[in-house]
Amino acid sequence: MNCNIAVIKGDGIGPEVVTQAMKVLDAVGEKYGHTFCYEQLLMGGCSIDAHGVPLTDEAVAKAKASDAVLLGSIGGNTSTSPWYKLPPDKRPEAGLLKIRKELGLFANLRPAYLYEQLKAACPLKEEIADKGFDMMIMRELTGGLYFGQRKTEEIDGVLTAVDTLTYNENEIRRIAIKGFDIAMKRRKKVTSVDKANVLDSSRLWRKVVEEVAKDYPEVTYEHMLVDNCAMQLVKDPAQFDVVLTENMFGDILSDEASMITGSIGMLASASLNETKFGMYEPSGGSAPDIAGQNKANPIATILSAAMMLRYTFDLDKEADAIENAVKQVLVEGWRTCDIVSDATKLVACDEMGDLIKERI
Ligand code: NAD
Repeated sequence: MNCNIAVIKGDGIGPEVVTQAMKVLDAVGEKYGHTFCYEQLLMGGCSIDAHGVPLTDEAVAKAKASDAVLLGSIGGNTSTSPWYKLPPDKRPEAGLLKIRKELGLFANLRPAYLYEQLKAACPLKEEIADKGFDMMIMRELTGGLYFGQRKTEEIDGVLTAVDTLTYNENEIRRIAIKGFDIAMKRRKKVTSVDKANVLDSSRLWRKVVEEVAKDYPEVTYEHMLVDNCAMQLVKDPAQFDVVLTENMFGDILSDEASMITGSIGMLASASLNETKFGMYEPSGGSAPDIAGQNKANPIATILSAAMMLRYTFDLDKEADAIENAVKQVLVEGWRTCDIVSDATKLVACDEMGDLIKERI
């Protein structure tokens, strides 16, 4: 198969980790007879430096013409980087919001899985970690508070800021359908998370999810308030299969789910539209504190590439090969600095990429 992939290495650790993922993809291509063609695009701070904007229309057009996008991460140190002195629509994150919107990426999938070998890095009590967990956080990505109208103005001499949270029933229905579809391929359970005791948008969310659920009689579903979900994630994460939620709640809960896996450097993510097209990226940010030091954990990006093979190219066997290679290096005790412990062996970012590549 010929796969045309738009590659956005981005800022900070992005270039380091994406290079490892491309290395692993090339090994997969060689072994299974596929050709991965890469078109490199700029987004984020590096695009601001080169073009004055975080994402050019030309880059959007090239991304749209590809089969899938592989992204590292964008942004810099939000306190010290000059990129954050720019108006909000010129900052690195504006590029990310623009590409998600332009590509119609409304469904964000973030698997949170506790590897047996990384239980020691899990910050939860041993009796909770021992049960393990394997969940998929499904976050709505193009609506809600982050896309609502906002303004800051002075009212009677007092600075006042307003953000608005809007969802229509169609936006809720399409993400709910994706959530139930994914649940059908997993353990057939959906936990829909909202704040229906307070928010109108959540009450509509709940109503639409209930309508969609009727088409999936095999899937067990429940509603959970977001504050309770935040607690349950640390108390009993094994209870979750698919966690279906809106944009801001998903942003926060998926980071919490990342944390309990032991390292954000392990967590892949995918953002999908209504077709097979997707953008695949690690869950973490650009980690400016360790950028350029060859220390970053590339596994999240490598596992994102595996998700790309599975969800966009339907190459399940090849995706399994990557996931198994990752498991194997962990069993053998190789670790980057974010997950290293006494009994394990420390390797750099590029060495981790090599170890995984060699096990394909
Ligand atoms: P971050 O995820 O970049 O870093 C948080 C902590 O996790 C840091 O200590 C970092 O070293 C560590 N970390 C993250 N990824 C790692 C990896 N692969 N290996 C080892 N350690 C890793 O979050 P932050 O510091 O809040 O944000 C830094 C920048 O990244 C900001 O500009 C932010 O806006 C941006 N950001 C971008 C994305 C994206 O591109 N999708 C997502 C989140 C944050």
